[in-house]
Amino acid sequence: MQSCVKTAIGKVEMADIPTPTPGPGEMVVKTTLATVCGSDMHFLDGLPTELLVFLYSDLAGFIAGLPGLPMGHEGVGTVHAVGEGVTRFQPGERVIASCLYGCGKCIQCSTGDYSMCTGGGRVLFGTQSEYFLIPFADINAAKVPDEVSDEQAILATDIMSTGFAATERAEMKIGDSVAIFAQGPVGLCATAGARARGAGLVITVESVPERIEASKKFGANVVINPKEKDPVSEITNLTNGQGVDVAVEAVGLQETFEQASRAVRRGGTLSSIGVYGVLPQVCMPTTAPSFYHRKVVMTFCPCGHDRLAHLLDIIRYGKVDLSPLFTHRMKLSQAPEAFDLFRSKREGVLKIALTP
Ligand SMILES: [Zn+2]
Ligand SMILES: [Zn+2]
Repeated sequence: MQSCVKTAIGKVEMADIPTPTPGPGEMVVKTTLATVCGSDMHFLDGLPTELLVFLYSDLAGFIAGLPGLPMGHEGVGTVHAVGEGVTRFQPGERVIASCLYGCGKCIQCSTGDYSMCTGGGRVLFGTQSEYFLIPFADINAAKVPDEVSDEQAILATDIMSTGFAATERAEMKIGDSVAIFAQGPVGLCATAGARARGAGLVITVESVPERIEASKKFGANVVINPKEKDPVSEITNLTNGQGVDVAVEAVGLQETFEQASRAVRRGGTLSSIGVYGVLPQVCMPTTAPSFYHRKVVMTFCPCGHDRLAHLLDIIRYGKVDLSPLFTHRMKLSQAPEAFDLFRSKREGVLKIALTP
């Protein structure tokens, strides 16, 4: 089958690799939609390789014998084959899988923290292929209702879950003020999530023109361009000198983390959903008014079948539609070009739909 694989640091190519066959508890899905994500860039550029090896010592074995690491962790498709012991799925059903899968048995999985699995779960790889394999399928996949499109459903596998979790894990109350630093795809999902959860004033920080426009559409009342104004003093002014109830860091940079930590009110919550890689060090300025009394919450994409089902219900019944994030549509065979485009942030790119 055709698959987009990492052949060198920073480089992907289309390659012919064996179509996976499902072992016990696994299922193989025929891809109908895949997409490129900011996290793909982390895996591609090699920065977190140490981190990956630290987290997943069996990764080397996983990719042995293949031309490289099959890329992509966000995918939708129809069940092609189920392995022994899979009980919740049948061939032909339309499904999605969480971008991080859990074993379903370890301590973390038993408390529902599937993305923190220590029992053999890790990042799903290989959705940018004609077929992809879902391990521990009963735990990590969900059926997609007919009313939900592929483009809507695929966002639930990663960035919608992460973005919505920003205010959810911050325990944001209705009417709370929220500031979100960076309006890339994940930040925009955080903006939509804050709005859906009942935020009051939503302030976002972004400098790319198309992302400023998207941010307003997704629910921001005010967008601050950090190239024109200092976001922290603007946020302070907009909240009567108090700072916001919840400040969200959504890109994974030291600078925005520090800004978010200075923009939160005394007693407020700093919520970070950015992926930092191995560097930078994250530090919190001790001069911020909220330094001595605030909550800090870090969140890695909440996963698992129940999470997916809840997000699909928000799309289906809550009429939350994040599919305008798809700015580009290409064939799977053009995946290497899609990576170049995504990395360049040209043409207002947010999400690129890849179809076989
Ligand atoms: Zn992703
Ligand atoms: Zn587990």
